[in-house]
Amino acid sequence: NHADTNASQSSALHVLQSVYGYESFRNQQADIVDHVILGGDALVLMPTGGGKSLCFQVPALVREGTAIVISPLIALMQDQVMALRQNGIKAAFLNSSLNGMEVNEVENQLMNGELELLYIAPERLMMPRMLQLLDNAPLSLFAIDEAHCVSQWGHDFRPEYIKLTVLHERFPDTPRVALTATADGPTQREIIERLSLHNARVFNDGFDRPNIRYRITENQGTARENLLRFILNEHEGEAGIVYCLSRKKVDEIALWLSGKGMTALPYHAGMSNEQRQQHQERFLREDGVIIVATIAFGMGIDKPDVRFVAHLNLPKSIEAYYQETGRAGRDGQPADAWMAYGLQDVITLRQMQGNSGAEESRKRLEQHKLDAMLGLCELTTCRRQALLRYFDDDYDHACGNCDNCLTPPETWDATVAAQKALSCVYRTGQRFGVSYLVDVLLGKENERISQFGHDKISTYGIGNELNNTEWRTLYRQIIARGLLRVDVEGHGSVQLTDTARPILKGESQLTLRKMVKANKSERRKAKT
Ligand code: ADP
Ligand code: ZN
Repeated sequence: NHADTNASQSSALHVLQSVYGYESFRNQQADIVDHVILGGDALVLMPTGGGKSLCFQVPALVREGTAIVISPLIALMQDQVMALRQNGIKAAFLNSSLNGMEVNEVENQLMNGELELLYIAPERLMMPRMLQLLDNAPLSLFAIDEAHCVSQWGHDFRPEYIKLTVLHERFPDTPRVALTATADGPTQREIIERLSLHNARVFNDGFDRPNIRYRITENQGTARENLLRFILNEHEGEAGIVYCLSRKKVDEIALWLSGKGMTALPYHAGMSNEQRQQHQERFLREDGVIIVATIAFGMGIDKPDVRFVAHLNLPKSIEAYYQETGRAGRDGQPADAWMAYGLQDVITLRQMQGNSGAEESRKRLEQHKLDAMLGLCELTTCRRQALLRYFDDDYDHACGNCDNCLTPPETWDATVAAQKALSCVYRTGQRFGVSYLVDVLLGKENERISQFGHDKISTYGIGNELNNTEWRTLYRQIIARGLLRVDVEGHGSVQLTDTARPILKGESQLTLRKMVKANKSERRKAKT
């Protein structure tokens, strides 16, 4: 009722100002906070840096009892609890980093009603003993952070999250707030289903990160040099993250950038805990540190002034790309998401998926996600629009802050070239990889080709209008578009799919983006 609403609004604002020192709520924060204070369930979809934490912290301070915050990340938990304590809030965490005595102390505080917030890892929450304690403790709410981890459809599924299903059965009177910064439509539906949030209000702030400029370039074997130039031209002395797929490449790139005078530190699962910790600390505390990392780095890293995120490999999905690039520019200042990808990325990822040993349905799902990512790469229109549409966000104009908006790519009618490329696959028996096929198209003389008799077939030497790099790009593009599939057992050999047929038969046209040879003037244009 009105009296309640007014009371909750004024106490929430009071908490915001007196405890946090902020003047007013942002965007939907005020509505979310009110809704939860009055005991409602909520699903909060808000981009990174949008201010999700206050959505459960303020209600936790206004409502009676302890708020239980479920978070998958130990490091993040500790940071948040430290920050809360600095604001004079009584907060604690329970995770595997505590010893028995410390655990006892926190549990005592909980039972005595001395805590306003308790952060807890999902696997610990689900221990029978812990649940019994909670049965008898006064609780204000449950906050489920990184809620997309409950979804098997999502890209970051964590089995221990599934058990959170019991919360609504065991604690039906305690409001639940689920929060995430990455969830496409199916993932959102699965969160609602699994956490039984059917009656929850959904607060969707959209996922746009307007200050991030998206740029996806081709790797024609010079990604490393392009990366260096990108950093020197646009981000010298600034903090950034460079993502690579393998540990070996992480080490190699970190060493190389260091050799060019940058502070570039590696971070991957093959390093000792201490070393990783040390590099992370330096990244957080020092200015202008570049972390070169596998995807193991970044979850829960709360550094506001990361000015760029670079990918030297293709992410597995749009969610992964969005989440990784989302670590740039949390302070709202301009930041860059830069990526270089090439043919080999596509082939490697397809093979990894094919050989993963996962169930067929899982493989299909992963393939579908990779296809969507490739679609984003090959796109000739606004990247942001496509990205946000993938998350079911309405975004109906071109953004003016991505490479395609800033320097619209030229396209060309690639039908004839694609016919040659496809028929070369067919004539050689669908048993060869792209390098070999390009050699045949270019009429290379080598032992392998003559041994197979492919210097006698009709596609031998018919491709001199394009050079080696251009053919590889064309193959990458038609693989990305699903005209060819990569045989996972056959060392990267490619085979025709049904969608190739109309092109081969001349029944449909194929328009592709022209290869750009990035030159200085173009780069300058992209910067302004
Ligand atoms: P998220 O968890 O959604 O990534 P955070 O909760 O960490 O975002 O908030 C991002 C930053 O914005 C934090 O530094 C936070 O203190 C700040 N912030 C959030 N809400 C407000 C507000 N209403 N006024 C001022 N600063 C805010
Ligand atoms: Zn755009």
